[in-house]
Amino acid sequence: MSSQQSLLDGLNEPQRSAVTHSGGPLLIVAGAGSGKTRVLTHRIAYLLAERGVRPGEVLAITFTNKAAAEMKERIENITGARVANAMWVMTFHSACVRILRREGNRLGYPSSFTIYDSADSQRLMQLVCRELDLDPKRYPPKSFSAQVSNLKNELVDYDTFAGQAQSDQERKLAEAYTLYQRRLHEAGAMDFDDLIMVTVNLLHAFPEVAEHYRRRFRHVLVDEYQDTNHAQYELVRALVGEGGPDAVVPPAELCVVGDADQSIYAFRGATIRNILEFERDYPDARTILLEQNYRSSQNILTAANAVIARNAERRPKNLWSEQGDGPAIVGYVADNEHDEAAFVVGEIDQLTDDGVCAPGEVAVFYRTNAQSRVFEDVFIRTGLPYKIVGGVRFYERREIRDILAYLRVLANPEDTVSLRRILNVPKRGIGDRAEAMIELFAARERISFAQALRRAEDAPGIATRSLKAIREFVALLDELAGLVPDSTPAEIVEAVLQRTGYLSELANSKDLQDESRMENLEEFVQVAREFENTFTAPLAEDQEEAGPEEEAGEPTLVDFLEQISLVADADQIPDADEHGGVVTLMTLHSAKGLEFPVVFLTGLEDGVFPHARTLGDRTALEEERRLAYVGITRAQERLFLTRSAVRSAWGTPAYNPASRFLDEVPKELIDWRRAESTIAAVSSRPRMPSVPSRGRPRDVPTLSPGDKVTHDSFGMGTVLLVDGAGDRTKARIDFGADIGEKDFLVKFAPIEKL
Ligand code: ATP
Ligand code: MG
Repeated sequence: MSSQQSLLDGLNEPQRSAVTHSGGPLLIVAGAGSGKTRVLTHRIAYLLAERGVRPGEVLAITFTNKAAAEMKERIENITGARVANAMWVMTFHSACVRILRREGNRLGYPSSFTIYDSADSQRLMQLVCRELDLDPKRYPPKSFSAQVSNLKNELVDYDTFAGQAQSDQERKLAEAYTLYQRRLHEAGAMDFDDLIMVTVNLLHAFPEVAEHYRRRFRHVLVDEYQDTNHAQYELVRALVGEGGPDAVVPPAELCVVGDADQSIYAFRGATIRNILEFERDYPDARTILLEQNYRSSQNILTAANAVIARNAERRPKNLWSEQGDGPAIVGYVADNEHDEAAFVVGEIDQLTDDGVCAPGEVAVFYRTNAQSRVFEDVFIRTGLPYKIVGGVRFYERREIRDILAYLRVLANPEDTVSLRRILNVPKRGIGDRAEAMIELFAARERISFAQALRRAEDAPGIATRSLKAIREFVALLDELAGLVPDSTPAEIVEAVLQRTGYLSELANSKDLQDESRMENLEEFVQVAREFENTFTAPLAEDQEEAGPEEEAGEPTLVDFLEQISLVADADQIPDADEHGGVVTLMTLHSAKGLEFPVVFLTGLEDGVFPHARTLGDRTALEEERRLAYVGITRAQERLFLTRSAVRSAWGTPAYNPASRFLDEVPKELIDWRRAESTIAAVSSRPRMPSVPSRGRPRDVPTLSPGDKVTHDSFGMGTVLLVDGAGDRTKARIDFGADIGEKDFLVKFAPIEKL
C-alpha cells in the first residue's frame, strides 16, 4: 500500500501542503474546526513514515496532557508503530520538567525538585509577605502572587524588576519577589511559571545544553499557538535555534498552528502577538490558511462568525462548512438558575431517550466554576451520569493536599511549604508559637526551616512539650523516608496514612465529612496503584536516540508526584466509556480544542458571561467574545443557548440582562423554546426565584446546631449557631478549613439541610 497516499487521504489541498511542507518555519492560521490539530498529527506521522525522521527527533507541544495522549494515540494509529514513548508529545510544562530534571542542577536545583501549584505558591507568598512585615491590606499577597506570575511570564527576573521599580508598591513587590524566589530555591522548588522561565534561562546560559536539545529536536510542532505567552515563545525560539552562519546546528523545522480568535489566556500572559507577528519574527516563514470547517453545521458556524466579527483588531476569516444548515440553535430563558439546570437536564434526557445522542456526546459549558454546583444538584437528582471538569478538583481537597504534602516532604525534605503544612497535621502538639519560634531561629541562623526543625533544641522559647513533639515528628519523617527507596508509590501512600495517624484520626471522628475524606483517601491510594500499573519510564536520552524499544523502569515517588502536579483541569475530561459515557460539565476555558455533537452554552447574561469584571473594558470584553467563539465552535450538530432571568449571588438575587453575545447571534438562527422568563414578565421587582419548573421546590430549612447542610457555592458545612425566628432566622455555618465560617439569612441562602 502506498502509505504516503493513505497519510494524505482525508485531507484537503491546503492541509496536504501543510503536512508535506519541508524546510523553513510553517504557520498555519485558521478558524475553529478547520483541522489544525489534525494537520499536526498527520504531519508527525508523515515525518516518521515518509521523511525518515526518528521519533526521538520530534517535539510536539499540546495544550493539555490529555491532548498529548490523544495525539500520540492518533499517530500510533496512523504509523502503526510503537513510537510514542520516544517522541516528546507533551505540554510546555511537562517538556520543561523533563529538561529540568536532567539539567536543573546547573542552576542549583535538585533533580527531584518539587513543583508548587498555585495554592502552594500563594501560601509561600503569604509567608514571604509576613516575613517582610507587609501590611496585607496595602500589599495583598494574592495580588503579589499574580503579579510575580505575570513578571515570570514576561521573563522579568527579580533583579531586573527591582532595578526598574519606581513606586512604593513596585519596590515592595520587588522585595517580595526576591525573597519569594530565594525561598523557592532554598526549598528546592519551582512554581509553574518557573518551569518555563528557568528552562529558558538555562538554555540561554548554557549553550551546550541548548545545542544538545537542538541536535535532538529537529522538528518542533506547537498546537494552540495563540495561547503561548512570552516565556513559552522564547522557549520555542531557544529550542529551534536561530541558524545563521555561526550556528553549530541548523535550526529545527518549526510548525505552529493556531487561531488568533481563540486566544483566551491574556490574563495568564498569553498574547496573540505571537501569532500575529510570527511572520515578522520568522521572515522566511510560510503561512497556510485553512478555511473549510469540518466540525460544525452551517447554522452553528454562522452564529460563531457573527459573534466574533464584532471584535475589532482581527483578520477577517471566511470559514465555511459543507455539512448543511443542521438543526436551528435552541434558545431558552430560564426563571432562575435551577430552572436553567432543569431545562438542560430535561433536554439531555429527551435527546438520549430519542436516541439522538449518548450522554458522552453532550457538554454543558459555563463561565465560572461556581455555576457548576446547581447543575450538579439537578444531575444527581435525576440520576443522569455526569462528570465535572475542574471545580473543586480532587487534588485540591484538604485531605489529598495533606497527604501530598507528606509525599513531597519525603521526596524533597527542604520543601518548606509542604513541611509547614503537615507540621501539626494530624494534631501532635506543635502549635503556631513553636512554628514561629522555629521560623525565627531559621532566619537568625540562616538555615532552612527543615534544618531548624532538626535543631529545635537550640532554638529559644520552645516549650518542652512541643520539643518532644517536634522530635517525634522528625523521627516519623525519617522512618517514612527510610521506606521510600524500596517501596512503590502506593505503598508509600499507605504507610503515610497509617503511620502518621492521619487515617485513625478520621476514623475516630464523628463528622460525616471525615467519612467522605476517608473515601477520597482510599481513592487516592487507587490513583497511586493505577499510576504504577500504567507507568512507562521516560527513556534515557541514549535510548531515545536509539529507537523506541522500551526499558521498563520502576515508578518512583518523584515520578508519581510529577504526574499529579501536571494534571491540568482539562485533563479530567472523561473518556466516553462503553455505556455511552457521561455528560461533561466544564468551564469554557477548559473546552478549547474539544468537540461535542451537542453543546449547552449556559449563563448567557451580561455580568455572568461576559464576566462582570470585563463589562467596562473593551480589551477584556474582546477576550470574553473570543471565549464565546470558542464555546460556540465546540458544537458539531446541536447548540443550546440559555440564560437565567434571576440568579442568586451570595444569597441575594441578581437580575442580569441578556448577554450581548446572545444578541449578536443573528435572530433567524435561534428557535426560542422560551423567549422570556415568566418571572421577569410578571414583575420587575427583585424577588426570590419561584419554584423551579422541573426540580423540587427548595424549602426554607429549619436548622439547629450540628445539622449538616450543603451550600450552592461553599459545599458541605456544619451549622454552628442559629439565631432569630421565621424569615429572620440567621445561621452561622462552618465550611471547613478552606472556606471557614459564614453567616446567612437562612431564607435567602442557597442551602439545603442534609
Ligand atoms: P480547534 O480550533 O477547535 O482546535 P482544529 O482546527 O484543531 O479546531 P480539528 O480538531 O483538527 O480542528 O478538526 C475538527 C474536526 O474536523 C475533527 O473531527 C477532524 O477530524 C475533522 N476534520 C479535519 N479535517 C478534515 C478533513 N479534511 N476531512 C474530514 N474531516 C476532517
Ligand atoms: Mg485543535
